[in-house]
Amino acid sequence: MRDDLPVPVISARNDVRIRVRAAALNHLDLFVIEGLPGVKITPPWIMGCDATGVVEEVGPDVRTVSVGDVVTINPGLSDRTCAYCRDGEHSLCVNYRVLGEHVPGTIAELIVLPAWNVRTIPASIDPAVAAAFPLATLTAWRMLHTRARVRAGERVLIWGIGGGVAIAALQICKQVGTEVWVTSSSPAKLERARALGADHVLDSREDVAALVRAATGKAGVDIVVDNVGEATWERSLRALGKRGRLVTCGGTSGPMLKTDVRRLFWNQWDILGSTMGNDEEFDAVVRELRAGRLVPPVDSVFPIEEGRRAFERLAVADQFGKVVISVNPDA
Ligand SMILES: [Zn+2]
Repeated sequence: MRDDLPVPVISARNDVRIRVRAAALNHLDLFVIEGLPGVKITPPWIMGCDATGVVEEVGPDVRTVSVGDVVTINPGLSDRTCAYCRDGEHSLCVNYRVLGEHVPGTIAELIVLPAWNVRTIPASIDPAVAAAFPLATLTAWRMLHTRARVRAGERVLIWGIGGGVAIAALQICKQVGTEVWVTSSSPAKLERARALGADHVLDSREDVAALVRAATGKAGVDIVVDNVGEATWERSLRALGKRGRLVTCGGTSGPMLKTDVRRLFWNQWDILGSTMGNDEEFDAVVRELRAGRLVPPVDSVFPIEEGRRAFERLAVADQFGKVVISVNPDA
């Protein structure tokens, strides 16, 4: 333990202290490094939203996990008292905070979280997989199931396959039984996506919308998953069929988007924002992990001493799947 950071202690009766086995990176970590409006980071700052570990200590009110349990965590903290929380919509909490962004994160030996953010998982799950799992899978699950209400037989376009949310979206869509188009500028990533069940793969530099419309008899797709933003929005809308739903959890290429309101109302589109997930959705994805049905691909694992290399790997966007930092694999 470095002596310039205090050991986190249990401060609430419902807290759980976890010895971290592995943590995973998300694009959000790069945003935090670059600086986010309204988010003040004071170094030394602990990065990271995702983690898996072993419960080391529990507060007196904790009933759902015990010392020694292997766990996964929900990276979103909610106050449990506001109107949205009382309605079960924890990721809409007026005091919502994300680990590594608003509060110290998970790339640490020890973390303390409320028990409602912690779920047990089988000890046999590879720590890299368990660390790679929560944020991307939870986010994609809410986007597709809760917000876009994906159904079997529908057509879905997913931009930028290779990122964690896009891959989880592909896995969820194939689980539901949809026809999926994915895009990337990397032939190697498109090949990997095919192996995960993508029905159609497209070079993202091409006119993806025209290709999708040609392949669907001009009907377009039912759902577009667009987390790229400025670089893809116009093509996303052209690829979207009547009654289509466009769902987004961010815009990695830029935030300001242009939409023709005439096409929006005429085609009766839904433009859906989504972020993270609530307890019910977290329980749903953890069930999938426990059953081995949604297993995130791991791109690479770096020991914590080489943490900088993990961030560099993420920054060049060559990864397919999650970049993981091994903290204490023997915990
Ligand atoms: Zn709340």
